[in-house]
Parts: sequence; structure tokens; C-alpha cells
Amino acid sequence: AMDLELLRDQGMQVYESQVKDMHGVMHDVVFHKATCRESSGNTLGLIGIILDITERKRDEKALSDSRQQLMDIIDFLPDATFVLDNDKRVIAWNRAIEEMTGISNAEMLGQGDYAYSIPFYGVRRPHLLDLLDIDDKDLEAKYNYVVREGNRLLAEVYTPALYGGKGAWIWAFGAPLFNIKGERIGAIESVRDITEQKRLEKVLNQQAHTDHMTGANNRGYFLELLDVEIERASRYVRSLCVLMLDLDHFKSVNDTRGHAAGDEAIRTVTRVLQSSGLRQSDIFGRIGGDEFAVALPETDLQDAVDAAERIRLQLAATPVRYASANFSITVSIGVSEYRDGDSQETLLHRADQAMYQAKQTGRGRVCLAS
Ligand code: GH3
Ligand code: MG
Repeated sequence: AMDLELLRDQGMQVYESQVKDMHGVMHDVVFHKATCRESSGNTLGLIGIILDITERKRDEKALSDSRQQLMDIIDFLPDATFVLDNDKRVIAWNRAIEEMTGISNAEMLGQGDYAYSIPFYGVRRPHLLDLLDIDDKDLEAKYNYVVREGNRLLAEVYTPALYGGKGAWIWAFGAPLFNIKGERIGAIESVRDITEQKRLEKVLNQQAHTDHMTGANNRGYFLELLDVEIERASRYVRSLCVLMLDLDHFKSVNDTRGHAAGDEAIRTVTRVLQSSGLRQSDIFGRIGGDEFAVALPETDLQDAVDAAERIRLQLAATPVRYASANFSITVSIGVSEYRDGDSQETLLHRADQAMYQAKQTGRGRVCLAS
């Protein structure tokens, strides 16, 4: 039928087909045919060649099968994953990233010009994979949240546009892709939502630093913060003072009013410390059962004594409310100033001694370290 068509219409024909050989085996072939004419123009007949392309067909099929298989694997990965070619066009956009971004595979495939950053950042901008080729100095300076491990990049970053602008913390992992000749053919990136981990991390951190009963810094964290201040005072020759507070006759509060009333008294001290006009840079913590400490950076001794007096007076004027009873409590406060060469221990010890002296000389008062 094809031959008759060709004889009628003249010209050439090229088409693929299948033929059976003498052993009955099917072959993929290409027919190239043309009509053959005399110089007078009469058609003599047809001339043609048949190319056996069975092997080429098989290779092509194998290649497209393995490509499809690779795409299926990427699609299956639980982590949101995309693949770029060398022109930074998206050539794979898996199901998990469709779910994460709400952008379908069909919309994203073939897109270039940083289209893949829009669902994350809301704008076209370089993403992790675009940093694969910059040198380590730039990486450190401009993108200090990015870590290189061999030829892979890792980063934890906040992406404001994810989930319809709700935003999310992501962990991203990118690497270049090479062919068997070692030539770069693109890059792959996986992204994990770590928002919940980040939140938990923050909560745990907070909990590790906080005294549960009062919400104040706990002993460990206060001492950590104090160390930083001591370091600063020593290096930049800045003044630093420490107050040590201890509730007076607190055992008898517990004994006469009950432990819960005692707890409320401790919370009252915390509230007074929060509202007694300490500066933003001042730090306080509950460092013992009925003991608090305050660090006052950039504060000389006189101002520290004034701050201690304010705390003492405000506490005296703030009754503890427990059940239907109101009662007042007092504190003894020791004040000490950082001296050159002080360690945390020596500084706190002097404040403690001053506090002890306040106890000895009648309680409810402020004493200076000698
Ligand atoms: P002083 O004036 O000499 O300090 O006498 P004090 O009775 O306060 O004696 P001290 O400071 O040595 O004792 C502190 C008491 O605080 C001991 C303990 O029963 C009580 N205490 C410690 N932690 C808590 C707490 O979390 N809640 C309550 N209610 N009491 C506590
Ligand atoms: Mg006490």
C-alpha cells in the first residue's frame, strides 16, 4: 500500500516498521524509499534500503526505561527532592516536594530562572544548589549557615514563603550530579521540614535554662551568663557588680505558713526582681532554694548598692499573697564589685560573705564586700 502511494505521489518515503526475518524473528527497521525515473520522466520503479534498527531501539528503550525508573525512585523518596540540569532547569520535582510546596510537578518541570526558590522564599533567588560552585571563603562570609561536606552542601534555614506564607524551618541537602565520564550534568537537592524540631529545641533549651518554679534563670544558666560578663569585664576593663540575696528566716515561713506559702514567697521575690528597675542587660537567677543572684554589668559599686536598696525596699513593700493571708518577707543582700583577676568563685564568694554579714548584723539590709 505504501509502495502504491509512493508510485502515485512520487518523491521519497522514510518510515519505521517491523519485519520478520527468514527465521521468523521480528526486527525493527527503517525503510528509505524513492521512486526511480528515466531521464524522460517515466517511472521505472522503486529503489530502497532497509536499515535494521533493532539494537538501537533496544538501547533507546533501555535508556528510557532506566530514566523512568530513576524518576520513579526520586518520586518515591520521602524527602522533598528536586533535580536541576546544567542550565538550572528543573528536571525532577517529586511527590514530597509537590506536597510541601503545593506546586505540581507539571507546573515546575522545565522551569529555569530560580523558579524553584519561589515556593520557599516567595522570590526568585539563589538556592542551596546555586552555592555549589562558590568558594569556601564566600560560603563562610555570606552564607555562614551553609556547611560544605565534600562536594555536598547542608543548611538549616528559615523559608518564609512555605505553606502559603506560614513559613518553615528547613534542612536542605544538595549535591552535584555527574555522568559516568565525570562531567557535571546537574544537581540534586532534598529538603526536610524541621520546624517542629526547631520549636522543640527552643523549648528544651529554655527548659534547661529555667527554674521551673519561678521562671527565672536557673543556677547553671545564671553562672554561664555570669561567666560571659566576667570575661567582658576583664577583657574590656568594665565595671561589673554582683548582688547575692537570701530570704530571711525562710525556714520559719515554711514552718508557720506551709511550704506552698513559702513557694509563693519565692515567686514574689522573682516578680520584684523583674519589676525593680533592673536594666535590660542585668541578669538574675535563682541559684539556691531561697537564694538569688544578680549580675549588673557596666555598673559601679554605688549604683549596685542603690539597685540592692531598691530591691530590698520594693520587696518590703510587696506582701506575699497566699490563700487569704498576706505576709511580708525581707532579704539580706551582699554586694561585691568585680576586681581584676577575679574568678567566678572569688567574686561570688565575696558577695556571699557580704550577704552573711548582712545576716549577722540584723538581716533585711544591704552589706558591701570588704
Ligand atoms: P536565714 O535568714 O539565715 O537565711 O534563715 P533561713 O531560715 O532562710 O535559712 P536558710 O536560708 O539556711 O534556709 C533556706 C530554707 O529555704 C531551707 C528550705 O527549707 C527552704 N527552701 C529551699 N527551697 C525551697 C523551696 O523551693 N520552697 C520552699 N517553700 N522552701 C524552700
Ligand atoms: Mg535564707
